[in-house]
Amino acid sequence: MKVVRNKMTNEQKALFIIFGGTGDLAQRKLYPSLFNLYKQGYLKKHFAVVGTARRPWTNERYQEIVRNSISGMEVTAQQANEFSSHFYYQSHNVNDTEHYETLRKLADELENKYEFEGNRVFYFAMSPQFFATICQHVKTQELVTEKGYNRVVIEKPFGHDVKSACELNDSINKYFPEKDVYRIDHYLGKEMIQSIPALRFSNNIFNALWNYRYIDNIQITLSEALGVEERAGYYENAGALRDMVQNHILQTVALLTMNAPTMYADEDIRKEKISALKALRVYDPEGVKQNFVRGQYGPGNGQVAYREENQVDPHSQTETFVAGRIFVDNMSMAGVPIYIRTGKRLTKKETRIDVVFKNAPYNVFGHGKLKRNILSFKVEPNPGMELRLNGKKVDFDQYSIQSMHLRHEHGEEIQSKMPVGYEKLLYDVLQGDSASFSHWDEVYYSWRFVDSIRQAWDQENLPEDAFPNYACGSMGPKAATDLLKEDGNKWHFRPDEA
Ligand code: NAD
Repeated sequence: MKVVRNKMTNEQKALFIIFGGTGDLAQRKLYPSLFNLYKQGYLKKHFAVVGTARRPWTNERYQEIVRNSISGMEVTAQQANEFSSHFYYQSHNVNDTEHYETLRKLADELENKYEFEGNRVFYFAMSPQFFATICQHVKTQELVTEKGYNRVVIEKPFGHDVKSACELNDSINKYFPEKDVYRIDHYLGKEMIQSIPALRFSNNIFNALWNYRYIDNIQITLSEALGVEERAGYYENAGALRDMVQNHILQTVALLTMNAPTMYADEDIRKEKISALKALRVYDPEGVKQNFVRGQYGPGNGQVAYREENQVDPHSQTETFVAGRIFVDNMSMAGVPIYIRTGKRLTKKETRIDVVFKNAPYNVFGHGKLKRNILSFKVEPNPGMELRLNGKKVDFDQYSIQSMHLRHEHGEEIQSKMPVGYEKLLYDVLQGDSASFSHWDEVYYSWRFVDSIRQAWDQENLPEDAFPNYACGSMGPKAATDLLKEDGNKWHFRPDEA
């Protein structure tokens, strides 16, 4: 479907069936996001939510949970009651065929009551091991409608390597065509990530410079101050590479390196993103050694080492930090190093992109090097952008150059109106706009790239004392700094030196 992004102005009609309706994701992210859409009038009379999970809850208990999940928001008791009255609970074991029959009857009853015009959104907010069986049952037990749309929303992780992702995709595509599959990457719902195409393609100053002739390097940092917290069980198997690089970081790389779409419409955008990810230079094991660094946090700042966290193997070789040098071998970006890093227990929580431009060819102002121009996308915590320029220093007796910053921060009022990631993505699902969701080909090429690193690391006999190799509160292992030094570069964002 080709959707040019218009603001949705009218009420949307849909039934959401949330598999995993009692889970953490549903309670922390989905219900508050649905409430925001409700408050803005996008969801009104003609919507309902069926939450399903194994627990034997009543509708009343479920509605109370929904009210609790929005209690920290700006909401009156009347709004909370009205909103939660649209929620229904169905105890359900996803492996049990009979339960889908009950679910279908409930969905049909609700269709009569709320008149969704046959529009259904199936949201899989549970472990991916269940996705195939849910898809199959939803289709064979006729939960999909003839009239209206049937869209499937799928949470990460989408597989753990190329093979498992292909299998998962085949099992979904058997029942739902690609156009109806919305693979969530919540980073794509973030305001400043969405701003990348806007800045690149609506300003000729950047459009003209966005290539290997003028860009020296790009730096992407997704740093977290927290450790693994309660996710250790999952994280031990995933590690930072699978958890952050395969999805959020490579999606960001795609937005930064893709060519301009013909129109800012989902099909065109995805086509260009796919081309960019297809052009990722895939490394052999030697290339991985030269271009990728992994790390694991030791103690520091009053925090324990990763290996001492609950549910973590005391000899764990799981990486909690990754840095790498990536190349996208296409006509405009070939040869531009894209440095990426992500990790836990780093100095500061911050997500940012720094695009470092090449220096002017000659310094007419005398000795010394001019500072490079840097365009920074500050994704969080304070969304905004910054451009570092060189300008004249205000001085009486000499003419000299100093660096200055043009800054734009979305003010508090705008920030308070910014949709949170899931709200924007749910809005897009209702609108049938898949631009902010990963197409299967994007997922495939991302896994292909990540697998080459994972496989090289798995084959390497890492001595046990290779980890930990960075202290809590630092910005990762020294090798991550050396990686840029080899090219005569350094990380622009260095909160550990502040
Ligand atoms: P969770 O464990 O809190 O919830 C899982 C839900 O699935 C529960 O409602 C549980 O009752 C239900 N369930 C489990 N087995 C079932 C069965 N056999 N039949 C019926 N229902 C069953 O998990 P979560 O944190 O909400 O995560 C859900 C999915 O979303 C996972 O794939 C996770 O990787 C992904 N995800 C979660 C977050 C987050 O912030 N929690 C963020 C990104 C992705």
